[in-house]
Amino acid sequence: MKLLVTFSRREGRRPIIAQVVKDTGVLINVVRAVIDSHEGEALIDIPDDQCEIVRKRMADLGATVRILEHAIILDEEECVDCGACISICSQEVFSFDAAWKIVVNSVRCVLCGHCVTACPHGALTQSEET
Ligand code: SF4
Ligand code: SF4
Repeated sequence: MKLLVTFSRREGRRPIIAQVVKDTGVLINVVRAVIDSHEGEALIDIPDDQCEIVRKRMADLGATVRILEHAIILDEEECVDCGACISICSQEVFSFDAAWKIVVNSVRCVLCGHCVTACPHGALTQSEET
């Protein structure tokens, strides 16, 4: 399961992800991270059954954590199966099925947002699920 973690760096450069790995024993795969002098945002991937322990420890350390069940959402009513999202996505989230309908494997998504802006029909949105 993917978690989007946001944390402030104003109170120091505490290595929050390393701290959570140490405290929980859960190995965290960092999919994407953007960190500057004020705050950091990291997309992490962890086993589903260890999600709650990681989420709780990160919250205890002051981070804001969003659970992303479905990172990218396809509106099938809007989609015209043009395939533009297949071309733009480097993670191979999209593919055609045998009937040339778009299939989404959002487990691979790293939330770069490129497909959302590339879709000519506004059929894709990023999950806001918490
Ligand atoms: S780019 Fe948009 S309309 Fe085209 S196949 Fe992908 S989701 Fe559907
Ligand atoms: S947000 Fe990025 S990684 Fe996720 S499906 Fe869209 S293009 Fe692919």
